[in-house]
Amino acid sequence: MYHKINNQDLQYFKSFLPEERILTGTAISEDYSKDEMGTIVAHPEVVIKVLSTEEIAAIFKYASEKLIPITVRGSGTGLVGACVPLYGGIVLDTTLMNRILELDEENLVLVVEPGVLLMDIYSFVEPKGYFYAPDPGEKSATIGGNIATNAGGMRAVKYGVTRDWVRAIEVVLPSGEITQLGRKVVKDTTGYSLKNLIIGSEGTLAVITKAYLKLSPLPSKTVSLLVPFKTLEQGIDQVPHILQSRSDPTAVEFFGRETIGFAEMFLGKKFPDPHNQAYILLTFDGQDDKDVKAKVERAADLCLNELGAEDVLIVDTEERKDLVWKARGAFLEAIKASTTQMDECDVVVPRAKVSEFVKFTYDLTKKYQVRIPSFGHAGDGNLHLYICKDDMADDQFADVLEKVFAEMYNQADQMGGLISGEHGIGFAKKKYMQHLLGPTQMALMQGIKKVFDPNNILNPGKIV
Ligand SMILES: Cc1cc2nc3c(=O)[nH]c(=O)nc-3n(C[C@H](O)[C@H](O)[C@H](O)COP(=O)(O)OP(=O)(O)OC[C@H]3O[C@@H](n4cnc5c(N)ncnc54)[C@H](O)[C@@H]3O)c2cc1C
Repeated sequence: MYHKINNQDLQYFKSFLPEERILTGTAISEDYSKDEMGTIVAHPEVVIKVLSTEEIAAIFKYASEKLIPITVRGSGTGLVGACVPLYGGIVLDTTLMNRILELDEENLVLVVEPGVLLMDIYSFVEPKGYFYAPDPGEKSATIGGNIATNAGGMRAVKYGVTRDWVRAIEVVLPSGEITQLGRKVVKDTTGYSLKNLIIGSEGTLAVITKAYLKLSPLPSKTVSLLVPFKTLEQGIDQVPHILQSRSDPTAVEFFGRETIGFAEMFLGKKFPDPHNQAYILLTFDGQDDKDVKAKVERAADLCLNELGAEDVLIVDTEERKDLVWKARGAFLEAIKASTTQMDECDVVVPRAKVSEFVKFTYDLTKKYQVRIPSFGHAGDGNLHLYICKDDMADDQFADVLEKVFAEMYNQADQMGGLISGEHGIGFAKKKYMQHLLGPTQMALMQGIKKVFDPNNILNPGKIV
């Protein structure tokens, strides 16, 4: 159904792009065929490393005439196969579009190209006293990828997700037209919010070629508390009480001893507290040291005296901060290293249901004899659950995965939750989303896709 790329097409691309930015055959690394999860694999026919909006527009004009599928790729750190070129064609690699274009201090807006890495945004703005709040775990992801997946992260409880920090985007449509959605403005009720539709559309509607990011003053003080509980459920059950108190946490994470053990093994470093089985990690920040101190004291007092915490450990020394946050940052990769293969579930449920969902996964572990380590964002109801293959045979694991996913997504639905809190749908979660949202919503989504991409050349096979 799609045109296969031939010599004539390559000659056309070479007429306006240098040869070294057009990769074919064995010059294409295997990495371009998969993302970080590695469960969905398909090979591109050509990889083009783009440098400008105009180049992208020219490639799309040609591809839409010839019916060549195009998949955009940032750093490839996605976990649901969203950047995998299911139908071959072209992979557009945006990582060379990595310039920070403008810091507009009067309007508190940072203008960047899509291939700028998240960690480079932090290291550019923070020494100047500015804050870009979204805090997804993988700092080597591109901002284009973060916007395309509406990445979440640990500070979502207080500051929201990527969508809340994007003022405007420049995009290239599948037709090759260039347009800017939104402006450097704080409010916008100017028609349908096409900007917000593109954010989170996982590269299926348009290519983000420039981003105008909101900044705010950098909090002057940040303090974390590590709060051990007897069991994970006991700790998670207390999170709504912490959120109802006036302590206003920035992050509320949960994890257990088993997950810490994987991180210790992966990093070769010991977690600061060897005694307890389950933890809630709370962070507080603000502009006023006294105010932050008061919030920390309020939360510590509540946890110790009313919520049944075993202890409260202040994460204040550089050594302790390093050990706790390094461990937290390594959980996903540490679990991956603990097994032969795994797949993940990124459900989001109402906050009050998190511990019930965790308990439900214990039942699944017993029922299917499979390991399902987990950790997650207790403050926003987003759980990360990893179904591990270990020494199961391939067909047995495929069968177990199918059944466990079906039960998990059904349970999330029953609890008023959704398939994905932050990692997206891509290809891996498509059928589960279709099942949960049903035909009316799917028809609306398919209609939107048709309006943007009538020839279905942009990231075909994903989401809808
Ligand atoms: C260790 C680890 C921790 C993680 N933690 C988090 C977390 O806390 N929160 C979270 O939300 N995610 C997390 N992720 C998932 C991943 O990092 C995010 O989904 C990230 O936003 C992907 O960015 P990327 O540049 O790697 O995009 P890719 O993986 O390359 O692409 C992802 C999707 O975005 C599209 N895309 C990329 N660039 C563009 C563009 N310029 N225009 C249009 N579409 C584009 C692609 O087509 C694809 O559909 C984690 C991943 C890992 C490996």
